[in-house]
Amino acid sequence: MQAIRKESSLGYQHRVNGATVDLPVGKAVCVGRNYAAHARELNNPIPAEPVLFIKPNTSVVNLSGQLAVPEHCGACHFEAEICILLGHSIKIGCDQAQAQAAIAGVGLALDLTLRDLQQQLKDNGLPWEKAKAFDGACPVSDFVSLDRIDDLQQLRIQLYQNNQLQQDGNSADMLTPVLPLLIYISQFFTLMPGDLVLTGTPAGVGPLAIGDRLELVLSDRIRCQTHVCAQP
Ligand code: ZN
Repeated sequence: MQAIRKESSLGYQHRVNGATVDLPVGKAVCVGRNYAAHARELNNPIPAEPVLFIKPNTSVVNLSGQLAVPEHCGACHFEAEICILLGHSIKIGCDQAQAQAAIAGVGLALDLTLRDLQQQLKDNGLPWEKAKAFDGACPVSDFVSLDRIDDLQQLRIQLYQNNQLQQDGNSADMLTPVLPLLIYISQFFTLMPGDLVLTGTPAGVGPLAIGDRLELVLSDRIRCQTHVCAQP
């Protein structure tokens, strides 16, 4: 029998409460415009339903140490997001209790976005994949299990760029909260053990520069630092 590969192509492996877990690295399903203030800052309308897109597992890397970003594709924006790791599958018809029981951990991710390229693609009515799903486009932190989180909808998320606070949001402001979001996603895409859900970014996104130091904080639960370098 062939062993299931537990690492992404870029050497990432899921970790919960400080230990690696026996889950493959799956797809990341992402939601756009889940915070009204962020939709407004990009001059986007507030959507009636969640806007979904997917990053493949080849985009998943560690959000600590070095963060390699493409250098010659225009602006690469950070979007700090609360990230959910699935420990069990959920599919169409699941309810809140099943969605909650499927959560293996809560962490942080960056939805790296080649903003100039995304704008070009949007202007031409084309899909965003090249701007959102490239190798390394989904850096992910370690996770904490749900029993260490008091309230999923009272989580503060902060991103510091070179010691300056750029993003400061709270999951209380999500247009679609985590559990309804998991249920909504699973109507279209079965979520598998090892999949990730990125829950949208609060306001304050901006471009990265080579040499930047980032610090991301999730309430008093997760703190991680990374240093931006050019992709080889
Ligand atoms: Zn995003």
